Amino acid sequence: MGEFDLITRYFARPVSNDGGTVALGVGDDCAILTPTPGHQWLVSTDMLVEGRHFLSTVLPQRLGHKALAVNLSDLAASGGTPKACFLSLALPRVDEGFLAGFSEGLFALADAHGVVLAGGDTTAGPLNLNITIMGEVPHGQALLRSGARPGDDIWVSGSLGDARLALEVFRGTVALTGEQFDAVRLAMELPQPRVALGVALRGVASSAIDVSDGLAGDLNHILRRSGVGAHLRLADLPRSAVLGGMTEDLQRMCLLTGGDDYELVFTAPPEAADQVLAAGRRAATPVSRVGRIEAQAGLRVLDGDGRELDLALQSFDHFQS
Ligand code: ADP
Ligand code: MG
Repeated sequence: MGEFDLITRYFARPVSNDGGTVALGVGDDCAILTPTPGHQWLVSTDMLVEGRHFLSTVLPQRLGHKALAVNLSDLAASGGTPKACFLSLALPRVDEGFLAGFSEGLFALADAHGVVLAGGDTTAGPLNLNITIMGEVPHGQALLRSGARPGDDIWVSGSLGDARLALEVFRGTVALTGEQFDAVRLAMELPQPRVALGVALRGVASSAIDVSDGLAGDLNHILRRSGVGAHLRLADLPRSAVLGGMTEDLQRMCLLTGGDDYELVFTAPPEAADQVLAAGRRAATPVSRVGRIEAQAGLRVLDGDGRELDLALQSFDHFQS
């Protein structure tokens, strides 16, 4: 099968029902997108490399899902409504089983969020995936990392740490029952980007970021950008029943530094707490209040008695681990 047959077979679908943004999709030299009047584009791109971001054992459907999910998560953290995505793919060979599964997983998530695959590039080479996502936000309403202010509450969506727990099982450092492993493996391989929550938080959250490299590291990006510090209450960090059954040390590591959660961490003034809870309900997404922004720089983690823990917090860094 040649390059063009492959694209037509697995990635070209008629554009329908996207609200009119994609005027021309796959098949020409460029896609044509029509912006909604009064809106701004949000654009983000994320690359997935085998062995680095995913294991060769992952099901192709789940890989297709995750490649788009990590991009949707960035868009969610900015409060964007997803519109179009672009897929660049390097493939060692034409493996139809892989392509069928991969495109099925990708399109299932794309359809769930009204995103059109509007173009891309396909080449032979070591397996490598890149998706660029484009979404919209009403002018001036994007959520930024830079808006946190002393006194703001820190909130987290969903629960943290399961993806890291699953990774530790793959690495052989932790043993779980089959049922427990299935549950945390879903968090790692099928993350659900918090798009509806991001949209519901427009005009409510003072800052936001998605948790891809671990809560401590990602929250630190907000703190630096906003010129503030914070404390987190360890006991209030939301965790699954499976993670809650692990040792204190393992819980702490997974909650604070485990990557791949794709939850949102965001801040809002205490007066806006009811609006945050309402946004969570509208998005059918649990939200938990886990800490407070402070004027003093740095991130402090408090135990159940309010005492500061002495932790060397290291978030995931591709060039250091
Ligand atoms: P060109 O040679 O003009 O760059 P390509 O041959 O790379 O065009 O691509 C042909 C068409 O197929 C373009 O519209 C491009 O956006 C689309 N395309 C290529 N690869 C993919 C892919 N993996 N997913 C979606 N669209 C793709
Ligand atoms: Mg091309």
